[in-house]
Amino acid sequence: MIILLSNDDGYHADGLAALAAATSEFADIIIVAPDRNQSGASHSLTLDAPLRAEQISEKSYYVNGTPTDCVHLAITGLLDVEPDMVIAGINHGSNLGDDVLYSGTVAAAIEGRFLGLPAIAVSLCAEDPDHFATAAKAVCKLLGRLTLKPLSTDTILNVNVPDLPWEEVKGFAATRLGFRHRSESVVKTTDPKGQPIYWVGPAGHGQDAGTGTDFHAVEQGFVSVTPLQIDLTRHESMADLEEWVHF
Ligand code: MN
Repeated sequence: MIILLSNDDGYHADGLAALAAATSEFADIIIVAPDRNQSGASHSLTLDAPLRAEQISEKSYYVNGTPTDCVHLAITGLLDVEPDMVIAGINHGSNLGDDVLYSGTVAAAIEGRFLGLPAIAVSLCAEDPDHFATAAKAVCKLLGRLTLKPLSTDTILNVNVPDLPWEEVKGFAATRLGFRHRSESVVKTTDPKGQPIYWVGPAGHGQDAGTGTDFHAVEQGFVSVTPLQIDLTRHESMADLEEWVHF
């Protein structure tokens, strides 16, 4: 099995190194990751500038682009082999609820959905996380499970791991996405010339964070596993809308 690894924290990130070390016991690993921190890049592609892939070692590259650029480039021309799956992470910080819309980590996994196996995005839930070994072990357990009992290949698994030693993790939980309260306000300040500048403020706390959600599972010490799909259509609104547009 060939696994393509990427992330949004940049090729130098500790989370990516931990993921590579653990998964290389199962599979041939190829790393294609951004040359800098691209957290919050969402699913953007670079269309107005050329991409360059710098080879760091035999199976490791960094790219002057977004996480989506990295995976797109890797599977459409950079590599001379076709990976079987993509794993993105281990993100330094959670990707819970509406975070998945902004996350470069989740986007990198989504970009790998054309490959032969489900794609996995994995995030470690703390602002400055410590237990990368726990998240790496969780991924290895899921890989073992996928080998024994495959999931549909168009599945994207969004995995969030509590920042705890492995012995304190309660197990795995299948979850749905919760959602957050509105973000906190932007932080307004001034540049050295006195002009106003703004920093995007922190994400809101969990609003829909009850039983069954990703927020709740992580809070309770479980590894949260949420199946994602790409179809954003609100199917239950179709009948109403069908009538509404015919006026
Ligand atoms: Mn990140």
